[in-house]
Amino acid sequence: MKLVALVFSLCTIIISCHGSLELEHGLSFSIFPLRLKSGLGGHYIPETSCSSWRLGVEAHNIIEWTSIPQECVDYVGNYLLGKQYREDSKAVTEEAYKYAQSLNLVGDGKDIWVFDIDETSLSNLPYYAQHGFGVEKYNATAFNEWVDLGTAPPLPESLKLYRRLLRLGFNIVFLTGRPDSQKDITLKNLKNVGFTTFHTLIVKESAEYNGKTALTYKSSERKKLEEKGYRIVGNIGDQWSDILGTNTRNRTFKLPDPMYYIS
Ligand SMILES: [Mg+2]
Repeated sequence: MKLVALVFSLCTIIISCHGSLELEHGLSFSIFPLRLKSGLGGHYIPETSCSSWRLGVEAHNIIEWTSIPQECVDYVGNYLLGKQYREDSKAVTEEAYKYAQSLNLVGDGKDIWVFDIDETSLSNLPYYAQHGFGVEKYNATAFNEWVDLGTAPPLPESLKLYRRLLRLGFNIVFLTGRPDSQKDITLKNLKNVGFTTFHTLIVKESAEYNGKTALTYKSSERKKLEEKGYRIVGNIGDQWSDILGTNTRNRTFKLPDPMYYIS
């Protein structure tokens, strides 16, 4: 009897909570509103604001940031090293694959899918895990030393997408902000981790793009590809500067990256 009364009371509480949401929004939500900013017992969950910060970053509402908020180091680290980063990446690449499957390729080898390198094809997480997941100010010397090792692992969901796109008949172009001096080690790194077949790797020539943004550089290189007769039918990157600008064509796909921002 006591159990029945307890269940009845809980149902009444849940219904009344949902009822207040209906009143406010005119819609019915199946979430528990009291958990928005506090856990059981009403304890504040500090990660809530970091979660909002990450959403702002991914939606490109928060821009031009130079480091992650100090209070979000643990949150970002847990996100990247836990399951969510992989699952979020998978959601993006699965959608990209669905789109790719829906296309009828011409079959002349000119259908191009553009992949960015850092945090899209190759992961620098081993480096960033040693440098506060983006809380430390960018150190070009230390980062280049890491890149020059050529030991960056692949992002597994991106590698899967890459293999699927090859099977569908796409030509892959890697377009990266890495400089010409890192082209050889990047080629070696890509091939060592499974990106063995591709059309070309485009690196940033300092003479032509000195002082230019990644957005300008990548738009310009995509334009050159299209002027050569290639059709860019898909484009994937972790930065908004990978997918905004010109010559992006029909669909672009944004992978998560809460570690750094490149304009
Ligand atoms: Mg990148």
